[in-house]
Amino acid sequence: MAEKKKGFSTRAIHDGQASDPLTGAVNVPIYASSTYVQEEIGKHKGYEYSRVSNPTRTALEENFASLESGTSAHVFASGMAAITALCTMMKTGDHVVCSDNMYGGTTRLFNQVLVNYGLEFTYVDTSNAENVERAIRPSTKLVHIETPTNPMMALTDIRAVAEICHRHGVELSVDNTFMSPYFQRPIELGADLVMHSTTKFLNGHSDGLGGVLIGTKPQHAETFAFVQKCTGAILSPFECWLLLRGVKTLAVRMRQHDANGRKVAEWLDQHAKVKKVFYPGLPDHPQYELAKRQMAGFGSMLSFDLGSLAAANRMLKKVHICALAESLGGVETLISHPASMTHAAIGEEGRRKLGITDGLVRISVGIEDVEDILADLEQALDAV
Ligand SMILES: *Cc1c(COP(=O)(O)O)cnc(C)c1O
Repeated sequence: MAEKKKGFSTRAIHDGQASDPLTGAVNVPIYASSTYVQEEIGKHKGYEYSRVSNPTRTALEENFASLESGTSAHVFASGMAAITALCTMMKTGDHVVCSDNMYGGTTRLFNQVLVNYGLEFTYVDTSNAENVERAIRPSTKLVHIETPTNPMMALTDIRAVAEICHRHGVELSVDNTFMSPYFQRPIELGADLVMHSTTKFLNGHSDGLGGVLIGTKPQHAETFAFVQKCTGAILSPFECWLLLRGVKTLAVRMRQHDANGRKVAEWLDQHAKVKKVFYPGLPDHPQYELAKRQMAGFGSMLSFDLGSLAAANRMLKKVHICALAESLGGVETLISHPASMTHAAIGEEGRRKLGITDGLVRISVGIEDVEDILADLEQALDAV
């Protein structure tokens, strides 16, 4: 009889993390070792050199593969290193279709580095799946999407796009950083690959960078293990351990992030000084129905428009509990100004196309007491 798949929290705490066979320690140790003793020529315990593999990293990779319902996972030094590794699946002349509202660093990597190696990229609004189909060419190898997008919180129907990709023999990868596997598991919806900046919710404590690629096919595991060995942008054992520690509380953190996110979104939505709130959990979000179908929660990422740069600045100068900082997904509430921070590089015209106004403010709602977050926002909005 096949064993029933265990629940998410149980897998987050146990998968890949058997107690240490040597000592019984309940936590996987930080194997701070670059090399491994071999008994005789060619006879070793599975580890030879830590760029290739390391036991702390193996534990984390098994855990991530389980949480995303994939068959393999490979971790890298940052989210950007993971996306770089993903693109080594391609050769000169290959074409990628991607969301037009991606993480700025991803667009920069594609447009300013990878185009020099002959890869081609087309950006479309993937929230309409038909745009993806129209952009696919004979040379298309990959469709890469982010859902929800940053900071406009537009969704893409993963199942619909996966169906289009597979009809054309193209693979679909999803940057799942904003939702974490607790709220959204793209592979279960048909995606071939999932990528995360583990720097965000998976770590959850804003104390380390990392990235991961989760695959579903033997060639994904082979390719990404080979890339780890060849390019060397692997995650250190210490950072792997931080992630193993962080991921154990992913489920409880995400439930609290979601509860706080909903309250902050609703509160902002009725505030007189807020022009508009972008959050997939509000019934007036254009893809509210898709959000309910594709995600198990709405999460804690949202943005709202204060109408002008001056208004946004007045507010952001006054926050105390919310920290004005880039990044997201930590236990603390982080607040940012996309036009001057994360989306400065795409220029005014680029921002206008995506709807990113100068008065737009983004929040990654933390897991502090929500009354305190609301009180902080209230007093800061008084300055507007
Ligand atoms: C932060 C982020 C990245 C890049 O990850 P790093 O760990 O900063 O290199 C990629 N995609 C999304 C959606 C992100 O938020």
